[in-house]
Amino acid sequence: MINFIPLGGANDIGASCYYLNIEGTGIILDSGTHPRKFGVDSLPQFDFIKDMNVDVALISHAHQDHIDSLPYLVQRHPYIRIVTTPQTRAVAEITLHNSVNILKEQLKDEITIRAYTHEEIDLLIQSIEWRAYEEQFTIDGYRHSSKESIKASFHDAGHILGSAGTLVEHKGRSIFYTGDINLDKQSLLSGAQLPKQKVDIVILECTHGATDSTHLPSRLEEQLRFTTCANKILNRDGSILIPVFALGKMQEMLSTIWRLMQKGSLATTDIYTGGVGRKISTVYDKNRYTVPYNDTDLILSDIPQKDLYDVDHLDDLMRQQCIVLAGSGMIIENTLSYKLTQRWLSQPKFGIFTVGYMDPETPGYRVRHSHKGSLIQLTNASEPQNVSCDVEQFRFSAHSNREGILEIVQRLNPSTVILVHGEHGSIDWMGYSIMKKFPHIKVHGAEIGKQIILFE
Ligand SMILES: [Zn+2]
Repeated sequence: MINFIPLGGANDIGASCYYLNIEGTGIILDSGTHPRKFGVDSLPQFDFIKDMNVDVALISHAHQDHIDSLPYLVQRHPYIRIVTTPQTRAVAEITLHNSVNILKEQLKDEITIRAYTHEEIDLLIQSIEWRAYEEQFTIDGYRHSSKESIKASFHDAGHILGSAGTLVEHKGRSIFYTGDINLDKQSLLSGAQLPKQKVDIVILECTHGATDSTHLPSRLEEQLRFTTCANKILNRDGSILIPVFALGKMQEMLSTIWRLMQKGSLATTDIYTGGVGRKISTVYDKNRYTVPYNDTDLILSDIPQKDLYDVDHLDDLMRQQCIVLAGSGMIIENTLSYKLTQRWLSQPKFGIFTVGYMDPETPGYRVRHSHKGSLIQLTNASEPQNVSCDVEQFRFSAHSNREGILEIVQRLNPSTVILVHGEHGSIDWMGYSIMKKFPHIKVHGAEIGKQIILFE
């Protein structure tokens, strides 16, 4: 029998975590936290599997919403085997240590859960086993009741460095979890490589299900518009703030901006980056020959950058012209991009460019939907502010658009699809479209704690 239970990231984006039980072997697919929730609320609902076998965790990539609750999973199941790609392991070493510092601050008044320590992360990273793309390995658990072994393999998901779709095969039946996936080429990474094997069940991400992409501009058109908007601001001596995720978006945007400056299309100015994003760039550099990579000659660490953490006071930044790539991508409160946004908004010559996904309940979403001359309240508790700067929205997504997600379904042609990792509107559109286009495919919308029996 094969069962599936979503523990997080079902009809929502955040705390991705899914449990598969294949004839007694318990498999966890991802173990993330919710980026805008705190404490216990940010974790997947591990209690649903507290009396079940938990043998192995296969982690698709190192974004917070897919990996950050792994230390809590290990506290509950100390003997769990963890497998990732080598790149995900290398990135996670940086991001999980960084989360220790953030969690300490967030959880200082919390009694139900404590922040994990740097020592726990060191031990965790040492225990992670790594497997290259397309390398098959067995994952039988201690109480595996079948004579036949369970095989697993990772497949390049084209989303961030080391990201993988996970294929699990047993007795001629196969389940493919897309993780976060992108079929299209980005600035640095080539697109996803789908498994060549037959796939029966797809656990499918639906991030962009609600966005009509038929009339969206191409990456090249978007790059042109970005250049025009940026030059307009730089030519009037203004500065540009680009909120980015330290992992993935920072590296993609840095390489895009640098190439445009090198070509002479974008006015040259100082580029500010900093913190964990800079460390992650070195992992990208080291791995540019180990994964499909568009430009192995481009070394991110060699791009001239000033360090945001060398600036004594953020107000000093307002007196010089620059482009700032600052975390967090969704402008979460108390982060650098939040503090800079507060300052940027009052500057008529400046511009804020958003470049990726925004959760509707984040300040980033409010910024994205504001415009010069409007009023904005960054959070429910903050004072309304005038938007005096330019606000521009660009689409440099690291996820496939909804037509791309349908293409994945078409190419894999499974008998069943389980929809995960999307807001209600996205899941609804995707479910409806799959049923209409591929009536032979059975569609499930994942719900936290609700078991689906995949095979009797
Ligand atoms: Zn991701």
